[in-house]
Amino acid sequence: MADNVNALSFFYGNITREEAEDYLRQAGMSNGLYLLRQSRNYLGGFALSVSYSGRCYHYTIEKAPNETYAIAGGKSHRIPVDVIDYHSQEMDGLVCLLKKPCNRPKNMQPKVGPFEDLKEKLIREYVKQTWNLQGAALEQAIISQRPQLEKLIATTAHEKMPWFHGTIAREDSESRLQNGSRSSGKFLIRQRDLNGSYALCLLHEGQVMHYRIDRDRTGKLSIPDGKKFDTLWQLVEHYSYKPDGLLRVLTDPCPRPDGEIGLIGRPPLPRDHPGITSAFQNAAGGILSRLKTVPIPGRKKSHGSRHNTTDLNPYETRVPNNQAGIREAMPMDTEVYESPYADPDELRSSTVNRDQLYLEDGELGSGNFGTVMKGIYKMKKTEKPVAVKILKNDDNNPSVREEMLREANVMQQLDNPYIVRMIGICEAENLMLVMELAELGPLNKFLQKNKQTTIKNITELAHQVSMGMKYLEEHNFVHRDLAARNVLLVTQHYAKISDFGLSKAVAEEQNYYKAKGHGKWPVKWYAPECINYFKFSSKSDVWSFGVLMWEAYSYGQKPYKGMKGNDVMQMIESGKRMDTPVNCPIEMYDLMRTCWTYKAAERPGFSVVEPRLRDYYYDISQ
Ligand code: AMP
Repeated sequence: MADNVNALSFFYGNITREEAEDYLRQAGMSNGLYLLRQSRNYLGGFALSVSYSGRCYHYTIEKAPNETYAIAGGKSHRIPVDVIDYHSQEMDGLVCLLKKPCNRPKNMQPKVGPFEDLKEKLIREYVKQTWNLQGAALEQAIISQRPQLEKLIATTAHEKMPWFHGTIAREDSESRLQNGSRSSGKFLIRQRDLNGSYALCLLHEGQVMHYRIDRDRTGKLSIPDGKKFDTLWQLVEHYSYKPDGLLRVLTDPCPRPDGEIGLIGRPPLPRDHPGITSAFQNAAGGILSRLKTVPIPGRKKSHGSRHNTTDLNPYETRVPNNQAGIREAMPMDTEVYESPYADPDELRSSTVNRDQLYLEDGELGSGNFGTVMKGIYKMKKTEKPVAVKILKNDDNNPSVREEMLREANVMQQLDNPYIVRMIGICEAENLMLVMELAELGPLNKFLQKNKQTTIKNITELAHQVSMGMKYLEEHNFVHRDLAARNVLLVTQHYAKISDFGLSKAVAEEQNYYKAKGHGKWPVKWYAPECINYFKFSSKSDVWSFGVLMWEAYSYGQKPYKGMKGNDVMQMIESGKRMDTPVNCPIEMYDLMRTCWTYKAAERPGFSVVEPRLRDYYYDISQ
């Protein structure tokens, strides 16, 4: 959380304004005494409470869309504690300078809000229902997208609350409140329209009061002239604890009639339900084509979203979201997240019939084996956009054919959302390897062309690669050619590891592969033991992963620029390593250096690297 505010001695978590005042009072109310607490109305925001001249003052520290923190109208800072440091030196609109932290009583942990407890359950349910996932695919979706899912849940959690009745008529809300117990304080919320307007309906002395809740241009919700909130559940929490302009506080949620779920909160349709595409397309002006991930390079998005007016990146893929308008696509929104083997009626065989495969014009890439083309694979129920590696007809070179079959053999054994999966082999006019399509191409080239990509985005992608590598490590495969050029992007937020041409399965007990001799090797990506002893293991993949991270945080630059392989080896042997890329977070450079631990036995595996990346990614995302 925002560089771990929980560790700050003067951070109290989710306490109310009154509780904050009590703590300041108990600590003596000296001028400039302050504490920090979690904002109860702004997601990811904080509140600063300060005492001065016997009174308490409260300032909201809002989190801006560009991930900075500021007191409204004040200077922006990277993390909340920088706001505190700044106002210890400059009043800049505050009632006084911040002088002394009001520390939490001994043994008191920052208070966890009620939503935190619910969150885990809601995230799991949401992922299960929305994308129809289960098992490992469900777990991986949650791990890789937790920050996005938490935000999504926060803005849709009300759908699961008993007090949310969906789009019922005003008259219906009255009869529901008048039914059964008629205690004052009984309440419900109904949805007035699809533009984010709601009504809070409250029973008071036998009469139902209706308070309008509108969404302003910035997306904040409020009762006219009332306090503003990011979410409905924050609004309900606030008015449950003080009336603040209402006739009374909210006490008893009016339950929905048995079995009914509000219109908006109904369980989603199955993913291939025809209603999904048409409803989505209507909402998003038709952006969701069959292939949900096709970018339109050089063209601005045609669907303006009020949440996204500053961002004109043509590679961002958006999907409609019932509450927040349009949101960024997550890996699970694409057609290549779930395994093509998930449907028992499809793809039981690893051979592809030529008459079900349609090749399209235009090359995706090429190598010494031939070319990679885009295509469509027509299956029983659906059709899949695919990439097809086509072996050039070269009768003189049977080894290339064998190499391709070896690659297919490895790929066939792998099934993970962060690895390009094989659909099958097609023997026709040429030998063809049919794979999942990752249309945005290699990571290094993408970053060279898209220098505006944020550090958070790069970290998200690097983390996904580490998840794919952890899977390989667990399944005793070594990649042996892990590099940014071999990470392909499905969307700007979804990476897959590709190119298993050099990969090997390793014996569990031995856990390394010993090459017979030196080959055409990507030496700059190789660990010392690969070069010196021809030994390849998941630990040597970790070394390559460090180089891949370096490439990513340098926006696709070549590692050891201008150096020959031999010079690189000497540099490594002498204990030197590449310098940190410009603007690379120190935490990530530290991790690269750890990946470049000389001795394989002392180098961490992906089971350690992945959680380190995950923690850092979560930290900067919240
Ligand atoms: P490779 O020899 O496997 O590295 O493939 C050569 C090039 O083809 C890559 O650098 C990509 O640009 C393209 N390519 C390979 N596989 C795919 C795929 N599954 N989806 C999209 N493009 C691909």
